[in-house]
Amino acid sequence: MRMDTVIMGGGLSGLVCGIALAKRGQRVAIVTTGQSTLLFNGGSMELLGCVDGKAVTSPVDAVAALPEEHPYRKIGAERIADLAGQAKSLLSDAGIQMEGTATANHWRVTPMGVAKPAWLTLKSHLRIDDLDKLPCKRLALMCVKGFFDEPNGMLANGLREMGFDVEMIEFTTDDITALRRSPSEMRASSLAKHLLSNSSLQRVADEINRHAGNADVVLLPNVLADEDSYETLQSMVNKPLRQVATLPPAVAGNRMQSLLRHYFQMLGGTYLMGDTAVGGTLDGARLVSITTAKLGDMPLKADEFVLATGSFISRGLVADYERVYEPILDLDVDADADREQWTRFGILEPQAYSRYGVKTDGDLRCIKQGKTIHNLRAIGSVLSGHDAIKMGDGTGVSLLTALAATQSILEK
Ligand SMILES: Cc1cc2nc3c(=O)[nH]c(=O)nc-3n(C[C@H](O)[C@H](O)[C@H](O)COP(=O)(O)OP(=O)(O)OC[C@H]3O[C@@H](n4cnc5c(N)ncnc54)[C@H](O)[C@@H]3O)c2cc1C
Repeated sequence: MRMDTVIMGGGLSGLVCGIALAKRGQRVAIVTTGQSTLLFNGGSMELLGCVDGKAVTSPVDAVAALPEEHPYRKIGAERIADLAGQAKSLLSDAGIQMEGTATANHWRVTPMGVAKPAWLTLKSHLRIDDLDKLPCKRLALMCVKGFFDEPNGMLANGLREMGFDVEMIEFTTDDITALRRSPSEMRASSLAKHLLSNSSLQRVADEINRHAGNADVVLLPNVLADEDSYETLQSMVNKPLRQVATLPPAVAGNRMQSLLRHYFQMLGGTYLMGDTAVGGTLDGARLVSITTAKLGDMPLKADEFVLATGSFISRGLVADYERVYEPILDLDVDADADREQWTRFGILEPQAYSRYGVKTDGDLRCIKQGKTIHNLRAIGSVLSGHDAIKMGDGTGVSLLTALAATQSILEK
């Protein structure tokens, strides 16, 4: 099979790169093992949330202070605002409507009730522009009885610490009670499927209208499958309604993954789900083809290749007792040689491994044994030099490096 570009990994970065290339008429295949870390995404994207331990107010302005090895510095600080705008439009074209700007972070609320800086948040979700000027005072937090995926007490306490008056209202409906006969059904994704019907939504709306009292805004865990379900429920409820992130697997991230995949395929892209890139053939400084577990002796050939296989959690990087390595092509990796340095004791300590990744040149091209592979670019969380947990830059790096690599491929 010969393509213009083959992408390894179909998470946020791989899909966005595939979409941007397919939009420009390229024949693109994405080969991907399985689900991506988008399943952890509660409905917000981060561009740059924290530098030197301080919350960032304007990501675009803060990029210049990042170390040179950060992917944003490789892309060029002056391109960040433009690429961020392109990313927001591409998401919107795929059906993911988000609010926010790269020049001013807002705050998203985690399921544990912590406010974190964010760049984009889904329109139906709670977002706070300024923690000193809350958008409202009284919140009715609707807690579904028996629901597993929201630690309601922690969420309520966190919101109270931010300055909201929170009333926790436990509720159920006859049909949700019926779901509870099977405990595994009380997950966000099961409720989301159930609440696709207008009659189920109406029963939830009746409960909200009965209990919401004098609340300014009603908060519901993210159990609505899509914007249509949200709009329908909002039209039935007589107060402003906002969703708040749940524990993973999150409905919002799941929906983003399927919308992006659908859009990529609609543009003519080939999505090889459930297959794994296992090796490749190099001819000098170029990658000629990759082999996959399922295609066996039918290699995927292309002019250009993109590595978008994610970090340790997705097995884009692997650590064994001896070393940290990239498993498909054994590319050069930025990681401490001494394994004692990889981790620190204490779950909240900054962890060195979270900034490990493959080495690239200024054009995001991968390096093997010190030599650049000219037609292989790396994007997203497989890249070294950034830290999604400590810096809050994970989704931004995925989106912006995907678009930067696309431009570089198209201009070659
Ligand atoms: C627990 C967790 C929570 C997060 N929460 C947030 C958040 O709230 N907000 C936020 O902005 N960011 C968050 N992030 C960061 C964000 O999710 C990621 O930075 C971003 O989505 C990474 O996208 P990616 O495409 O680079 O990689 P991934 O999402 O890891 O996707 C990589 C894909 O490649 C596939 N793959 C791997 N190896 C191969 C192979 N050999 N062949 C084929 N396919 C392969 C995998 O199956 C996977 O589908 C979180 C990350 C994690 C881990």
